[in-house]
Amino acid sequence: MVNPVKESLTCRIPLYIIALTAMSPVFAGNNALSSWQVMAERAQTMLEETQVDIDNKLLQTYQGYAGVWANVGGNTAIKKICKTDQCDAGLFRSINELSADAKYVRKAGLAFVPFTPKHLEYLRAAGIERQRVTLKKGQYLWPVMGLRITSRVGNRWGKVHGGIDVAAARGSIVIGATEGTVMIVGDQGAYGHCVFVENHDGTVAWYAHLSDSFVKVGDKIARGQIVGTSGNTGRSTGPHLHFEMRTQQGIILDPEHFFFLPYEEHLKQSQDFENEMATKNKMTAKTSNKL
Ligand SMILES: [Zn+2]
Repeated sequence: MVNPVKESLTCRIPLYIIALTAMSPVFAGNNALSSWQVMAERAQTMLEETQVDIDNKLLQTYQGYAGVWANVGGNTAIKKICKTDQCDAGLFRSINELSADAKYVRKAGLAFVPFTPKHLEYLRAAGIERQRVTLKKGQYLWPVMGLRITSRVGNRWGKVHGGIDVAAARGSIVIGATEGTVMIVGDQGAYGHCVFVENHDGTVAWYAHLSDSFVKVGDKIARGQIVGTSGNTGRSTGPHLHFEMRTQQGIILDPEHFFFLPYEEHLKQSQDFENEMATKNKMTAKTSNKL
């Protein structure tokens, strides 16, 4: 006898769903965890509390070291870059992939200047530090302190806008929203200069229209670590960061579902912190001028 319920279901359910259902006994083994158990355990790790330090204009990180990114001209003596005791010359060479006996930076470009513990102590005493926030492992930081969100995920001009746009002055610091491994760095047509990161949770993040990038393919990045600076490269109507998130299969996700704070709250907190840092920086400059 034909089961009428089953019959009608088969008519409505597309073939691929039936195929997936047929494959699902993968989790049915006696000793195997069910997919629900796997998901529940994974969700639990995402709820673990973590502390994150956020890079700013004065204090940045690369490969776990604290320092600052600088534009170095061609044939600059390393002695000149590390002339005071604020920079560790040996570390400078290894981080910037120069030979151990190199005396010059031959090629002009970006270099990471690692600070010595002594200089870090000096900065700390002057109140120059990175903003520390406590959040859960699965929560993301906003990648840029922009002025406003100009576009969200959804339909725009008859096309799907796959990310969020945050208007930000050219050169604004863009930080890693969460930990991950850098997959692609470079020009991506309409998206301009991009950094693509495979996040620790398996999602993929695109940081687009950048003016500069401070990471290379294969780098492990920390949450809050500077990834680049925002800009206006590619097809863009003004300086902004386009931040897009996808699954490995390319399905578009809404980044706003992943963020630690709603945008308005993030903006307020980060602006307060930036103002505080600017005041401290002015004070430090004044003190050092007096000396
Ligand atoms: Zn966009």
